[in-house]
Amino acid sequence: MLEKILAALQPTQTQLVAVSKTKPVAQIMAMYEKGQRHFGENKVQEMVDKYEALPKDICWHLIGHLQTNKVKYIAPFVHLIHSIESDKLLQEVNKRAQQADRIIDGLLQFKIAKEDTKFGMTLEDARKMLDTNEYKSMNHVRIVGVMGMATFTENKIQVQQEFRKLKHIFEELKTSYFADVPHFKEISMGMSDDYEIAIAEGSTMVRIGSLLFGERNY
Ligand SMILES: *Cc1c(COP(=O)(O)O)cnc(C)c1O
Repeated sequence: MLEKILAALQPTQTQLVAVSKTKPVAQIMAMYEKGQRHFGENKVQEMVDKYEALPKDICWHLIGHLQTNKVKYIAPFVHLIHSIESDKLLQEVNKRAQQADRIIDGLLQFKIAKEDTKFGMTLEDARKMLDTNEYKSMNHVRIVGVMGMATFTENKIQVQQEFRKLKHIFEELKTSYFADVPHFKEISMGMSDDYEIAIAEGSTMVRIGSLLFGERNY
């Protein structure tokens, strides 16, 4: 399955984040041995434990809701935080990155789905945040793009429209805030059920779990 997904991502150079949440270290190691280096987790403690147990050249992606009081545990090593969705969280990431003497990359998470359960900002929220002097003075956090999750539905047209919306948000922000900023280039969208649509709509990074590791038992 890894080979099949990588082949689908190859023409557009889309990056694969293998979502290993709930899966044991041995399964991650097996995929590491096939060359995979980017892994995604949604629970801070689980990510810390796996970071400690696994090779240090793994790039760890934090996906899903992140509580401000837990940022400090991942600040020393996290590669990319996909779920920046408030000023408060961004400030905390900046503060903990400074303490760790690092610059941490983050994606702004937008709510593109119709479901109430999905977290994320609106374009207006993001503009407000990016306009503050506080944001402009943050030297330890770097916004490198956007992230979103489509509605969980069989309706492919709806999913496609939601991904288009995220791409549009990306373009808007690029034009107004990041025009001369080459590192603002990532669009994290696409999961096991919709990654092919996401690639067609311009995803630069897909987050795939169950298709790679099998269904999760919680
Ligand atoms: C769990 C999760 C994924 C992966 O989901 P699959 O359907 O198993 O591919 C991707 N993104 C986020 C934010 C997740 O929480």
